[in-house]
Amino acid sequence: MEAYFAAHDRVCTPDTVNYRLQEIGARAGFEKTVSGSNLRMTFGKMLAEKGFDAEIVRRVMGFRDTNQGKEMAQRYFVLSEEHGNPPYYCGEKTDSGDPCRRTVFFPDSVCYHHE
Ligand SMILES: [Zn+2]
Repeated sequence: MEAYFAAHDRVCTPDTVNYRLQEIGARAGFEKTVSGSNLRMTFGKMLAEKGFDAEIVRRVMGFRDTNQGKEMAQRYFVLSEEHGNPPYYCGEKTDSGDPCRRTVFFPDSVCYHHE
């Protein structure tokens, strides 16, 4: 065990991780560049496709419990093909009189601003 940690006791920078992921992706034959951020994006999208609630996705992905955090979690549903692409829109009347263009999970849902 000590030998393992002695051999792996170097600090790895985000650039090193991304470089290694890129190499692994290229070796595996992926056309797109593999990076930490697109693996994270893929994981979030998979959670959305598996039907996890937006609140669960927000918490698992580490976004704060704020409107901005909820909006960040919503983008995984936007990416999720299983839930429709392009996504559904809230459609509630806004202060300007125009329908709300925030994305929602289901066609008859309203966004968190209009709940
Ligand atoms: Zn709305």
